[in-house]
Amino acid sequence: MKKSVLINHQLCNGCGNCVIACPGNASRGIDSKGGFGPRREAALVIGEGGGVFLDERICIRSLSKPCKTCRDVCPAGAVTYPDEHGFSSLEKAVISRGICSGCGGCVSACPEDAIEMDEYPVLTGECTNCGYCLLHCPRNPEENVDLFSFKMWDTLGHIRQGFKIRAAEAPPRAQDGGFVTVLLAHLLEKGIIDAAVVTGEREDEPWRAEAVLAASPEELYETAGSKYSNSGCLQMLKKAKEEGFKRVAVVGLPCQIEGLLKLYTSSSEDLGYCNIIALSIGLFCKGNFYYQGVKKLVERRTGTTLSRVDKLDIKGKFFTVKASRGSHRIPLNELLEHKREGCNFCSDFTSKLSDFSVGSVGSPGAFSTVIVRSSRAEKMLNLVISEGLVEATPLDDDDKALIRRLAKSKVKTALKRINHFPESNSVTDLGVSSPLP
Ligand SMILES: Cc1cc2nc3c(=O)[nH]c(=O)nc-3n(C[C@H](O)[C@H](O)[C@H](O)COP(=O)(O)OP(=O)(O)OC[C@H]3O[C@@H](n4cnc5c(N)ncnc54)[C@H](O)[C@@H]3O)c2cc1C
Repeated sequence: MKKSVLINHQLCNGCGNCVIACPGNASRGIDSKGGFGPRREAALVIGEGGGVFLDERICIRSLSKPCKTCRDVCPAGAVTYPDEHGFSSLEKAVISRGICSGCGGCVSACPEDAIEMDEYPVLTGECTNCGYCLLHCPRNPEENVDLFSFKMWDTLGHIRQGFKIRAAEAPPRAQDGGFVTVLLAHLLEKGIIDAAVVTGEREDEPWRAEAVLAASPEELYETAGSKYSNSGCLQMLKKAKEEGFKRVAVVGLPCQIEGLLKLYTSSSEDLGYCNIIALSIGLFCKGNFYYQGVKKLVERRTGTTLSRVDKLDIKGKFFTVKASRGSHRIPLNELLEHKREGCNFCSDFTSKLSDFSVGSVGSPGAFSTVIVRSSRAEKMLNLVISEGLVEATPLDDDDKALIRRLAKSKVKTALKRINHFPESNSVTDLGVSSPLP
């Protein structure tokens, strides 16, 4: 069995702090006097000679659950974790295999503030091998068989209602109907949320996505519109928690919504994100792109720099660049050459795991297609409709059929790639058969 905790017996002074604090013991009724309870049921026990010993069969970490209690309470620095639980394991299992989506969840999961996002996560601090980054990674192949298979079975996910929606006064930078920004701004004004994790752009690099924690409608309005690069927006959850926000909305791509779910459902109490997420808005997405690729393509095909661009948009088979000197339509295939590698493994087009899903497919220009998936989303939508902030008409069968067709084609592409997953099981081995008729 893999070692989940290492105890240095030369450093250990036998104080018993780890034994008392160990949740593996607490859940089995060991009293707080030092772990002299029924030995076989305690993860950490004090041996007869006074040293602390670990029973791997009971240790929460060896059950792949996040826990670092014993290390945190040890006054002698005698508890460490083996390096197969460290950032290097995230690199090996996910990043170097090209399946990392760049969601930023590992940044918020890391208790040491040791990870930062560039196009991919990078280790910038000291890794203590706690294992949180890999455990909370939505692309960790060892952990997420259920997530991969769940996603495959159902192309569109649970739908309560579907609408074409246009804001009465859409923000000038809105991508489609401005629904996302107008809804969030209103929820902020009403105090239903107190902050939103969204994606703006870097000051020094126009149209390069950057994660933003917006706490006012003005800040939100700045972030309207799609940036076709990765922000790793989930990294902002850590900031939201540190700044004391209690009701946070998250806007993200399907991969980011999956990452959110991983953090949300974490069994680790010290992450605590499940208590602060008030709403998730997932965007439709066929794929995201590397910033340098988008930049070079725009400059080469339009003769202008991104600083002069007013809007980027993907509709049908074209990537449209609207600049002060006119519009340019670039065949989508040219942009697809710069698609992020990890997007090829994603089978979710409509962000199935969110409260609201929003895209453009299914609605005419200047409208957002909005799928309502939860009762809290339904209440929020009714609020903005009743206040006259948006105009909504139900999606018809043709609209839904189009969305379903695109969703199925994304599943098909992902299945092909997952079946050739490097050094891993095939989809069939994972117990997943094709969900497509
Ligand atoms: C990379 C990408 C690919 C997409 N692909 C499709 C597609 O194939 N088909 C489709 O129908 N729709 C797609 N969309 C969604 C579509 O472009 C609009 O975002 C959606 O219709 C909402 O429009 P709106 O006017 O309601 O949003 P707005 O009010 O304009 O708000 C847009 C929101 O999107 C967020 N956002 C912007 N860029 C990013 C980013 N890079 N990562 C995470 N969040 C971001 C902002 O934070 C903002 O909250 C994609 C969006 C992105 C960012």
